[in-house]
Amino acid sequence: MNRLVSISTEQDILPEYRNTPIGLLLEYHNLNRQFAEYDSAELLIGMCMDNRKQLRIPAKFAFVIRAGGANLRYSEFQVSYAVAVGKVKHIALIGHNNCGMVNLIERKEIFIQGLVETAGWEREFAEQHFTHFAPMFEIGNETDFILNETKRLRIRYPKIKVAPFKYLVEDNKLYLISED
Ligand SMILES: [Zn+2]
Repeated sequence: MNRLVSISTEQDILPEYRNTPIGLLLEYHNLNRQFAEYDSAELLIGMCMDNRKQLRIPAKFAFVIRAGGANLRYSEFQVSYAVAVGKVKHIALIGHNNCGMVNLIERKEIFIQGLVETAGWEREFAEQHFTHFAPMFEIGNETDFILNETKRLRIRYPKIKVAPFKYLVEDNKLYLISED
């Protein structure tokens, strides 16, 4: 947990993110900043599909891509769209603790059984489905994954500022992940 920077005052926001849409995200969500009005998006947020996560942000402030584990590797066209057409210059990548995309193999049987019982799949197809996709969607460690994704996106979109965050489901706050 010592890699997480808690943000409870404006001064906690790293200077490089202050007065940017990334700093604003922290102010809106963590510091209850009063909502401004927006005509267009200022930020792209990548975050997990997990139902325990909800951001406090103003209308029209951000594009949001939600994917398991905040894994944007398979959403690249949407990222490009937000950058190219939406003209956002900042990306906030938000992982979270207790993420279902960590250690998927541990839930293999639940996954397969769930598809059979809830969705009506044949067991064999459900097994193939898991075996095929689990390696693509497994993220390993949440914090390390977000840091690696941040690096990858910075290389892919060199003029875009990308910031790594972790959301803790216990307090619903955003934490900057220290890159030192
Ligand atoms: Zn998750």
